[in-house]
Amino acid sequence: MKAIQVNEAGGPEKLELVDVPVPRPAANQALVRIAASGVNFIDVYFRTGLYKADFPMIPGSEAAGTVEAVGSEVTEVAPGDRVAYAMARGSYAEYAAVPAAQLVKIPDHVDLATAAAAMLQGMTAHYLTHSTFPLKSGDTCLVHAAAGGAGGLIVQMAKMLGARVFGTVSTEEKARVARENGCDETILYTQQDFAAEVKRLTAGRGVDVVYDSVARTTFEQSLNSLRPRGLLALFGQSSGPIPPFDPAILGAKGSLFLTRPGLPYYLATRDELLWRAGDVLGWIAAGKLRLRIGGAYPLANAAQAHRDLEGRGTTGKLVLTVP
Ligand code: NDP
Repeated sequence: MKAIQVNEAGGPEKLELVDVPVPRPAANQALVRIAASGVNFIDVYFRTGLYKADFPMIPGSEAAGTVEAVGSEVTEVAPGDRVAYAMARGSYAEYAAVPAAQLVKIPDHVDLATAAAAMLQGMTAHYLTHSTFPLKSGDTCLVHAAAGGAGGLIVQMAKMLGARVFGTVSTEEKARVARENGCDETILYTQQDFAAEVKRLTAGRGVDVVYDSVARTTFEQSLNSLRPRGLLALFGQSSGPIPPFDPAILGAKGSLFLTRPGLPYYLATRDELLWRAGDVLGWIAAGKLRLRIGGAYPLANAAQAHRDLEGRGTTGKLVLTVP
């Protein structure tokens, strides 16, 4: 089969198209013929070596496709099922052997590319808004990169829950996308002091929660945007990781809470997976959640997809399509 392989850590040029054998599913796995694979920052982190992996490695952490075969112990899915998954590496390929417990069936009205694009960022937005800080009507939140993949979905879910949503973006064009996603207010954080803007918009109080995927360039001001005892959910690092800091600053800035959540810990059981994926795919099927696919690339062009994602020019979600 065709697959993208990384033999050593490095830039996008390390993503090479190769021929490798089709994997054989273990007893608890299903062999999925992949139709589309989502492109995520986590793939960039494995490629660059920020997150550790053994090489050679097939990157890619989410996909959708059709079950071709199942291992002897599999009960969750059967050959012919249309399925999607996240957080099993190796999706930049024509086939992947995936633990069946991680697969969910796709509703009839959702196509495979959409399902592939929805899983990882959709379930992330779901746990952040429903579990890490469960938003309720009248709450206020700040979402960074509000025109991006995860950010755009967090904004939409926060609005569904009745929150007032402020979104940061780098350009006027992205501000328009963020408003389409549902932001009540957008802030150009490349030009404006976003903490000062948030304080102005909340009459000096600050927001209940900041969902921060940007990290290095936003961390300090994210803390400054919170109300006393507010929560910073630092869930990514698009601008780079934050340097070590003294936790005493959380006290000085108002007894703040800080968490660094990760999707696997919010998919702790199969029930939790079925809840989050069921909501995300169900809302898409019902037209309540809009998925913005910002670019679709053939599998062979994975390097370009990574360049675009890292280059900060993208809106919404990037996917690789598999012929
Ligand atoms: P996005 O679509 O949000 O793309 C990244 C965006 O970050 C850019 O479009 C840009 O928006 C903003 N950004 C700010 N500074 C930079 C910079 N220096 N370089 C590049 N981009 C920058 O990506 P994802 O939604 O895929 O992921 C966002 C982050 O969330 C990643 O760090 C990812 O690993 C993390 N994540 C974490 C999860 C978890 O469970 N913990 C799950 C999913 C994602 P703008 O131009 O508007 O500033």
